[in-house]
Amino acid sequence: MDCNPRSLFFILLLLLSCVTPAFPVIYPPNEVNLLDSKASQGELGWISYPSHGWEEISGVDEHYTPIRTFQVCNVMEYSQNNWLRTNWIPRQSAQKIYVELKFTLRDCNSIPLVLGTCKETFNLLYLETDDDQGSHFREHQFSKIDTIAADESFTQTDLGDRILKLNTEVREVGPLTKKGFYLAFQDVGACVALVSVRVYFKKCPYTVRNLATFPDTVPMDSHSLVEVKGLCVNHSKEEEPPRMYCSTEGEWLVPIGKCLCNPGYEERSNTCQMCRAGFYKSALGNLECSKCPPHSFSHHEGSLHCGCEKNFFRAEGDPASMACTRPPSAPRNVISSINETSVILDWSWPEDTGGRRDVTFTVLCKRCRGVTANGSNSGTQRCEPCRSNVRFLPRAAGLHNTTVTVGDLLAHTNYTFEIEALNGVSALAPKMRQYAAVTITTNQAAPSPVTVIRKEKTSRNSVSLSWQEPERPNGIILDYEIKYYEKEEQETSYTILRARGCNVTLNGLKSNTAYLLQIRARTAAGYGASSPTFQFETSPDSFSISSESSQVVLIAISAAVAIILLTVLLYVLIGRFCCRSKSKHPDEKRLHFGNGHLRLPGIRTYVDPHTYEDPSQAVHEFAKELDASCIAIDKVVGAGEFGEVCSGRLKLPSKKEICVAIKTLKGGYTDKQRRDFLAEASIMGQFDHPNIIRLEGVVTRSKPVMIVTEYMENGSLDSFLRKHDAQFTGIQLVGMLRGIASGMKYLSDMGYVHRDLAARNILVNSNLVCKVSDFGLSRVLEDDPEAAYTTRGGKIPIRWTAPEAIAYRKFTSASDAWSYGIVLWEVMSYGERPYWEMSNQDVIKAVDEGYRLPPPMDCPATLYQLMLDCWQKERNNRPKFEQIVSILDKLIRNPGSLKITANTTSRPANLLLDRSSSEVPSMGTMGDWMDGMRTLPCKEAFSGVSYSSCDTLAKTSTEDLKKVGVTIVGPQKKIVSSLKALDSHTKNGPVPV
Ligand code: AMP
Repeated sequence: MDCNPRSLFFILLLLLSCVTPAFPVIYPPNEVNLLDSKASQGELGWISYPSHGWEEISGVDEHYTPIRTFQVCNVMEYSQNNWLRTNWIPRQSAQKIYVELKFTLRDCNSIPLVLGTCKETFNLLYLETDDDQGSHFREHQFSKIDTIAADESFTQTDLGDRILKLNTEVREVGPLTKKGFYLAFQDVGACVALVSVRVYFKKCPYTVRNLATFPDTVPMDSHSLVEVKGLCVNHSKEEEPPRMYCSTEGEWLVPIGKCLCNPGYEERSNTCQMCRAGFYKSALGNLECSKCPPHSFSHHEGSLHCGCEKNFFRAEGDPASMACTRPPSAPRNVISSINETSVILDWSWPEDTGGRRDVTFTVLCKRCRGVTANGSNSGTQRCEPCRSNVRFLPRAAGLHNTTVTVGDLLAHTNYTFEIEALNGVSALAPKMRQYAAVTITTNQAAPSPVTVIRKEKTSRNSVSLSWQEPERPNGIILDYEIKYYEKEEQETSYTILRARGCNVTLNGLKSNTAYLLQIRARTAAGYGASSPTFQFETSPDSFSISSESSQVVLIAISAAVAIILLTVLLYVLIGRFCCRSKSKHPDEKRLHFGNGHLRLPGIRTYVDPHTYEDPSQAVHEFAKELDASCIAIDKVVGAGEFGEVCSGRLKLPSKKEICVAIKTLKGGYTDKQRRDFLAEASIMGQFDHPNIIRLEGVVTRSKPVMIVTEYMENGSLDSFLRKHDAQFTGIQLVGMLRGIASGMKYLSDMGYVHRDLAARNILVNSNLVCKVSDFGLSRVLEDDPEAAYTTRGGKIPIRWTAPEAIAYRKFTSASDAWSYGIVLWEVMSYGERPYWEMSNQDVIKAVDEGYRLPPPMDCPATLYQLMLDCWQKERNNRPKFEQIVSILDKLIRNPGSLKITANTTSRPANLLLDRSSSEVPSMGTMGDWMDGMRTLPCKEAFSGVSYSSCDTLAKTSTEDLKKVGVTIVGPQKKIVSSLKALDSHTKNGPVPV
């Protein structure tokens, strides 16, 4: 083996390649090389001075990559000063540089015979210049960086082998200010092999933090940090301005702020990427895209939200993460419990809430007709919203619980309740909404209490009170019970009075005493609850007035009593004289006759008052002249064409006082007006029938001129029916109709054609007896607001009038029969306006084309058939009033037949007409009816009644009535007695039901 230290050193150097692991050299990313001797394949071209000092030789590095190395090993000689200078290295932006040296240094001990001269260090120096100075080299210009020593020259292995250790030393140099620099290595007698020299500076490398990019940044030389602002990556937005600090060590420190991915984008490997199909992201943020919630989808990338599947919806406030939902199904198991006029509705939650929790319930109340008793639909239902005063507890809409109480319904009325479950998306899908319906019929109910009582007049011993009808009469009020007692007596003794109207005067009271009073109303269903207790006081006894005024009062009272006595005396005397003179009046006999109290055998015929030369003669022929003093007017009840209609009392001498209606002729009338006004009395006076309004007499000899008739408490039939909508039984309605027909039979027998038969011209008394009124000739029609001018002139109530009467004024009892059919329709529809809002022209046209009014709701088939018969185009085919009375009598005897309604059953066989000529369309509502025009006419089959007399009427028993649902004893008796009365009136009797 060669003992020369140099050759030994090189052998050891070669060994280096065997001991160094063969890893590729990767520099840290924050280090930027300015020089790397290893990277040079060819000669480095460094300057070596003197030339026998440092030597450049080729070798391989640990990866067997050829490298250039420098070595010097003049250890055997003294005074060594060998320099090796690198090429000029541009500084770039670096302020501080690092010099990394890899070298081997031979241990002097390992070299024999070199003691004294051998060194184990070398020096590292640098020189800053602004440009490359080429080969120009001066030792003294260089500044020393450090003396470099080996950590350990050799390392002894466990086996005793000595291996050469590769030293790595790094030195910092800075701050540098010039454009470049040189490095120099000074050897003073060591055995050194410089394997590699790397010069680098540090930087903070380009990075992405919190979705912000930070560029390469060179740190400052000083110890201060460089603040760097970041830029948000694509598809992101700054939440807080991103910033970071670059340290002198080239490390990023303290990231502040961040960017967030836009909606539709999510963070993936430091970038914002579009959401994949089937996913969505609706908000800014660094959350991941979410999968579309149930019943929704997104077909495209980058979706902000997912669309709903068909028939699924999202309510306005629904978050995008919520599943799409749908309206709930209908509530289930609706149960109704009826208590008189209220009903509790209970139901179960819908099977499907539509996927939502915000389910509420809404209850819609409808009043329906066309429903059979068992609640099943009879085909054509006509429903209208319930009145606004129907009460819902807790409320009708927005119910969170599955129950509601509905109060203040009408008694005996069919209602349908539609219960709908709603949720937040119901409004978006009106077609998908479902409801559960329940149909109920309310029960009979007593009237609600009287709540408003007023004191009208008080005196010492009496008090006059009035009150308002109960808010819910639930039927016709038969009377009021007034119970009162002295307050002090505490109800130990009390007095009860009954009143028919809404006022009463209590007499015989103690003066200056407090009384308590309660009122309750009575209907067929019994008494309603009592009113709250009402207190009143009678006036104090005048004698108890203070002593100072007592004398004055006494004198005044004495004077008043004297005057009253005198007046009464005079009144009696004059009254006697007046009535006696009247009984001697030459008209008396005729008046008696005119009022029909003397019935002549055979049928009398009606005499047209206009045939009298002097029409006022006709009045006195047929009407009794009354003395105005016998008439007391109470109040105004209506308005006629000639003046007001009042209610009042008529007290004829030696007769009971009766209630009357008084028609007045207002002042300033012409002769013709007076004649026309009195013509009605002349006509009325000729009639005497329980279903014709009875004339009591006239006042023509004093002013105002008056016509006095019997008083009909319930006013005109049309408004009466409207007021009591759906409150009567079929039998009651037929009873009213029978009365009208009976009155009309009487008129037609008398040869009188009414021309204006309509519900508005029928009056109703307190017993529901209907009487025909409004007589006259042309004036009747002039007076009627329904009458319209026809093309041929003259006014005609088109809707009530037969076609031939409209077309050529052919007014006959047959045209009255047509009008009767219309009245029949009005009654069965509770005062509905015939042909609704159609114009008169349209009515004429439609009727002429063969169309007829449809059956009213719940109208018994027989009655509808009767209407159709009355509306036969050929007037001779219409029923006579006698036949009409007979049909109605038969119905009253067979109330069961009323249960077959025109809407549910096929029509009865035509009773009067050839069926082929009675084809008439029938529709449930006006809309249907109008729609039905020009469609197939309906074919009707009838299983009804035939005309007959009333001979079996009286045989109707309470049992029969029970069968038709009249179960309460009071009404039963009333009806049976009415039927008996009816029977006795078969010829011309009324039907008080
Ligand atoms: P008339 O002029 O006959 O149409 O009467 C006008 C209004 O007065 C009618 O609609 C009724 O409301 C009322 N009226 C007429 N006659 C009577 C009567 N006899 N009893 C009660 N009210 C009547």
